[in-house]
Amino acid sequence: MSGERSGFLREALFNGNGVAKRLIVALVLFSSVITTLITAIELYTDYRHDLGQIDRSIEFIGKSYLPSLTDAVWVADRLQVQTQLDGLLRLPDIEYIGITVDGQTRWSTGKVVSQRKITADVPLVREHRGQTLTIGAVQVVASVDSVLARLWDHLLVTLLSSAIKTLLVAGFMLLVFQYLVTRHLTHIAAFIRRIDPAAPRGEQVQLERPTTGRWRPDILDAVTSSINGLSASLHGAYEELRQSDERLRALTRETLAFIYEIDRDGRILFANRTYPGLSREQVEGTLLIDWFPPELRPQIEHAVASAFDEAAAQRLEYTIADPTGQTHAYIAAITPILRDGVATSAALTSLDISAEKAAEQDIRDLNASLEARVSERTAQLQLAVQRAENASRAKSEFLSRMSHELRTPMNAILGFAQIIEMSAPSPQQLKWAGEIRRAGDHLLQMIEDLLDLARIEVGKIAIRIEALDLEAIVAESVAIVQPMITAHGLRLVHGCGAFAPRVMADRLRLRQVLLNLLSNAVKYNREHGTITLRCEERGGRIRLSVADTGIGIAPEKLARLFQPFERLGAEFGIVEGTGIGLALSKQLADLMGATLGADSSVGVGSVFWVELPRADGAVLQEDAPMVAPPAVARLAFDVLYVEDKASNIEVIAAFLARHPNIRLRTARDGVTGLVLAREKRPDIVMLDIHLPDMSGYQVLQQLRADPGLRDIPVLALSADAMLHDIQRGLAAGFDRYIAKPVDLNQLLGAVNTLLRDGRGLTSER
Ligand code: ADP
Repeated sequence: MSGERSGFLREALFNGNGVAKRLIVALVLFSSVITTLITAIELYTDYRHDLGQIDRSIEFIGKSYLPSLTDAVWVADRLQVQTQLDGLLRLPDIEYIGITVDGQTRWSTGKVVSQRKITADVPLVREHRGQTLTIGAVQVVASVDSVLARLWDHLLVTLLSSAIKTLLVAGFMLLVFQYLVTRHLTHIAAFIRRIDPAAPRGEQVQLERPTTGRWRPDILDAVTSSINGLSASLHGAYEELRQSDERLRALTRETLAFIYEIDRDGRILFANRTYPGLSREQVEGTLLIDWFPPELRPQIEHAVASAFDEAAAQRLEYTIADPTGQTHAYIAAITPILRDGVATSAALTSLDISAEKAAEQDIRDLNASLEARVSERTAQLQLAVQRAENASRAKSEFLSRMSHELRTPMNAILGFAQIIEMSAPSPQQLKWAGEIRRAGDHLLQMIEDLLDLARIEVGKIAIRIEALDLEAIVAESVAIVQPMITAHGLRLVHGCGAFAPRVMADRLRLRQVLLNLLSNAVKYNREHGTITLRCEERGGRIRLSVADTGIGIAPEKLARLFQPFERLGAEFGIVEGTGIGLALSKQLADLMGATLGADSSVGVGSVFWVELPRADGAVLQEDAPMVAPPAVARLAFDVLYVEDKASNIEVIAAFLARHPNIRLRTARDGVTGLVLAREKRPDIVMLDIHLPDMSGYQVLQQLRADPGLRDIPVLALSADAMLHDIQRGLAAGFDRYIAKPVDLNQLLGAVNTLLRDGRGLTSER
């Protein structure tokens, strides 16, 4: 215990307690200066006090002793005077007192020994018979030296006692400082020296603190807790670092890539892996380029130098052999490792891509063979496309021919039927002729529909979308079916007039669809039923619906409604039909960007509707105004008809025979036609297109080439009735193009117009 205390004392006084010592020295110095100052002030005050005391003694002599002393001097009582002077000499610091009479010292006591002194002369004044007489003077000498000596003594004592006091306080402070501060700081310092971040758990320093509740933590406790925190975070940081280091090591060890750190001279500082059979020590410290064949060294040296000089990654690819002689392809990067913006070393990362290279080569080989196969296939496909195109062309040609071939006999059938009707037959004959016309029209319609379907299939149907006034199209269609409606005793409710929307569609095809819907509504209606037309706007589109009050369609049949040749059982009834109309209408609607649909309930009726895009802002296409056939202005006209088919000539001849002002000349081939034209200069020429010796186009060309015949209007009468045939005919210079079978009244109208107005371009179909 006493050993511990002496250790504590030694520690406090001698060992490494510099702070405490400096503190004590400062304390001693400060306390000395303060003590000196205070002592100086005290001494000065004492000095002033003692001098004041001398003055008061002299004043006391003047006031208290002077009358009795004056009396004793007056009567020259020597004893009395001497006794009083001796008594006054006992006053503090009075060194000498003498009485002078008439300038002579008569009585005195004491002796002047001090060098510093205060001298005072007090006159002895006496009243005698009303006169004030100065009978002498008292001389008082006080010693200042004794005052100073006293002060010196006082100074010595004060200094000594202050020094002792300061030393004691300093020693005590040293001990207290050691106890309160240094001992703990030493403990903390020792702990800090001992801190080991790798210790399994972060260590904690503990100060010796009283356990009583009155203890309040001070700055040392704060320091301790900070150090404990630091120790814990050091331990945590060390743990993180260790784990990250371990991860990095594992990564570099396990990675397939070679990761080398190299210095500016290209020396390998670190290698994560080496070729089998080589240790890392054999690689580390060697020059990188020594591992490359001579031809690659300049490339490597350049890449290393660039990585350092430009502080930018360098990429390279190379192939080198391993110690066993096997070659490997590598993709590599040399990346500078920067510290404060300066490349201190560089990392070479290389990856063996031999397998990928081999695969790449395989792909290239495969590509080459694929390319060969693709071009082979392309050639085959081109052949197939060529064949398909040929087939399509053949189909189109077949369609044209079929159309032509079917229309030709129809021309005779319908032509003769019209002639019979015109030639005042008996009622029976008129009925038969009507039947022929009706059957012929029906047949023609069927042919048209079938051909349209076929055209759609080969993509040969032309659609021209334009802005149309829907109401006008509806009115045209209604006008066409009106006779049918009347004949069936039906009522038509037309609910579109006020709305009059504009739609985008093909004029002819929309009319075709409408006619089909309207004629179905007539055909499949009940007796005295109703047909209701309605126009409405739906989701930005215009819906035109045709509702009937007919037999309706069973729900299970609705799905098959738009399939070609599907009559849904109507084939067993009396209503005539082919099952083409709706299928064709649906296809046409699709082509126009419209939608065709139907709702129906058996026994109540059906609603067929077509939904069309609105024509917002598009310019409305007006129908060409209908011009009534004008009256023939001249008395007689010559018409030349070049046609090889006898039946066609006969129909036209029979028709025109009814018009005595028209003289018809006919030719059966092109050459004869041209000869006749030159000879007779007809007023109008009608040309068939397919003539035995030349085409109608060639005849037209020759007519136009002849200045004398150039202005004669030429009209084509042809069974080539496809849209492109008509377009081609008009483009070639025919003034009119009339498709067979010919509507004779229409033909007459065209002839009359041409005779009156001369040449102009229109088609009649
Ligand atoms: P078609 O009328 O020549 O038979 P469509 O293609 O026009 O051919 O019609 C196909 C079938 O759909 C008809 O045969 C008929 O059974 C049915 N159908 C068409 N329109 C109506 C309708 N308005 N009411 C009832 N059935 C109809």
